Amino acid sequence: MYAVVPLEWCPHLTQVTDVPVSGLKTSQPCEECQDHSENWVCLTCYKVLCGRFVNEHMLMHGITNEHYMVLSLSDLSVWCYSCDAYIHHSILHEVKRAAHLDKFGMDIPS
Ligand SMILES: [Zn+2]
Ligand SMILES: [Zn+2]
Ligand SMILES: [Zn+2]
Repeated sequence: MYAVVPLEWCPHLTQVTDVPVSGLKTSQPCEECQDHSENWVCLTCYKVLCGRFVNEHMLMHGITNEHYMVLSLSDLSVWCYSCDAYIHHSILHEVKRAAHLDKFGMDIPS
């Protein structure tokens, strides 16, 4: 359930890079603290780090490296740390598809 309507565009969409050929591992722990509960993947460098309700490692990574676009490995939503909003755009389809494939073993139902 979203309390807010996602933005349809943000200037940081240009930071999103191609999904690695190895795909996404949605069960990966945080690279810094090994936490499993609430992780995100950076859509610029594909590091997996924990969210703001754990140790905020992804937030720190985003601010330090100016990598603002992140995908939730829990609900596969995309958040921009700079715009402070969920983003929904066709550029993100490929990465969401890869995450869905790994998490549920199947493609996003159309
Ligand atoms: Zn962490
Ligand atoms: Zn990054
Ligand atoms: Zn943004």
